[in-house]
Amino acid sequence: MRLDLLTRPAWQASLGRFVLLLALAAGIGLAIGRLEWALVVALFGYALFSLFSLYRLRVWLELRQRTPPPEQIGAWGEVSEFIHFRFRAARARQRRLVSLLRAFREAADALPDAVLVLDPQRKIVWFNRSAGRLLRLKLARDRGRLVDDFLPNPQVRAWLSHQPEREPLFDVPSPEDESVRLAFRMMPYAADLRLLIVRDISLLARLEQVRRDFVANVSHELRTPLTVLHGYLDMIEPDEAPGFAPILEDLRSQSRRMAQIVEDLLTLSRLEAPQALPEERVPMEPMLAALRRDAEGLSQGRHRIDVVNEAHADLLGAPQYLHSAFSNLVSNAVRYTPAQGQVRITWTRLADGGARLSVADTGYGIPAEHLPRITERFYRVSTSRSRVLGGTGLGLSIVKHVLALHGARLEIESEVGRGSTFACLFGPERVLALDVEEVHATAGTAP
Ligand code: ADP
Repeated sequence: MRLDLLTRPAWQASLGRFVLLLALAAGIGLAIGRLEWALVVALFGYALFSLFSLYRLRVWLELRQRTPPPEQIGAWGEVSEFIHFRFRAARARQRRLVSLLRAFREAADALPDAVLVLDPQRKIVWFNRSAGRLLRLKLARDRGRLVDDFLPNPQVRAWLSHQPEREPLFDVPSPEDESVRLAFRMMPYAADLRLLIVRDISLLARLEQVRRDFVANVSHELRTPLTVLHGYLDMIEPDEAPGFAPILEDLRSQSRRMAQIVEDLLTLSRLEAPQALPEERVPMEPMLAALRRDAEGLSQGRHRIDVVNEAHADLLGAPQYLHSAFSNLVSNAVRYTPAQGQVRITWTRLADGGARLSVADTGYGIPAEHLPRITERFYRVSTSRSRVLGGTGLGLSIVKHVLALHGARLEIESEVGRGSTFACLFGPERVLALDVEEVHATAGTAP
């Protein structure tokens, strides 16, 4: 701060008055022959005046800073004015902030989505009106309580306790009304707070249901006419009309493809609306043997097929769904690998106690830009190649759905011209380790 004491009029006047007081006291002192007494009295008087001014300032600060400060002389008046000015500016800023905060709160309350601010322990710090309505919360009563207490659904509880920021949770029934479907999203913000947004997606869920029903019904309705068509085509002998033999062959292969698409669509519909996922022990040794048979049947001796079982563990889940997913990967590996190539099915344990089933091939590979979309329905890298090889474009969607139902992940690595590896990663809760006797029994060897 610059020392500009002497350039301010109020301070100049105060200083002038002080010097004048001393001069006056000195004059009187000299006149009465008591200089020191006169100076002491003058200084004492000045100190009293300063103390009194300070006291008035203190009283004003304590009682009412809204009213103008008391009239003070010189520097004291300037200090009071300065404090008053600062107070007024701070009050104006506070009013602006309060009205901004109110506007934000009103906007948050007007949102149709529930918004909750949570602390690191998931305790509720604040929530808007929609949160009160959707989750039955009351501000005065429920602030500071764990958000888990208001979300009894086990799916939501599991999501909350496993890094919910990673991905949102869709289509969960509301705790109040089963027909209201909710979507949850968690976002970190500020230093260590989190924002939980809960949306009512009932309309979207209904539309999704209509779509699912439509696909399932159409697929179902197409099944019978296709079977009839297929049956008649099989009855016609190519020798009876040799000129039509190539057309007949094409008709047969196309009708087979259509029947396969319908079957895949029906499988997907079933996977999208599973009643209750069977939780059975899925013995992996016979599963691997079945996958080998699938691969050899498709390959017809054109590929080398290897199966490696290093895990010595079984899976917990739905055997048919799992077989369908794994055999889709095996069928892709064989179909997208030229003759003389190699397909390797490996079943291993993971360091975290989970397990991994991978299907690696030395085939065409997939360009990196296609990988993010490869599991979408009807997505193909090369439509013509997929058609020629009898693909429906639904195989990897089925794999993704089956794995999601088992809480597992699909990892894909691929290099064009060198081959691809599709790996299914299961968590430890899905893995049932075999003891030594079981291992020998399944391998057909003596312990
Ligand atoms: P499709 O029935 O066409 O094989 P999928 O959903 O099984 O459908 O696979 C989608 C696309 O991914 C395929 O069209 C193919 O282009 C590619 N793909 C899948 N697996 C492999 C693989 N092992 N090697 C190369 N490309 C693959």
